[in-house]
Amino acid sequence: MPVPKRKRSRARRDKRFANKGIKITAVAHCAQCQYALVPHQACYSCGYYKGAKVLTTKADRGEKRSQHKKAKKSSSEVIDVDESGTQK
Ligand SMILES: [Zn+2]
Repeated sequence: MPVPKRKRSRARRDKRFANKGIKITAVAHCAQCQYALVPHQACYSCGYYKGAKVLTTKADRGEKRSQHKKAKKSSSEVIDVDESGTQK
């Protein structure tokens, strides 16, 4: 009867069970942007859930910030022109 030449190390033996606890999770796709996500959760990419916007995404915040910056810059330019015009 064939017999293993050497004892299998703990590491080699335990590698067999390393992935035993891993489960295959369900994957759904966002109806709005087709981003892969966990079912029954809001989309992190576009912020939509069941056709309604429920999250503010990083892109939304960036857009809002840039608009705010633009508005601030344009208002400060107007003030500068007015001040220079009245002072000089
Ligand atoms: Zn989405």
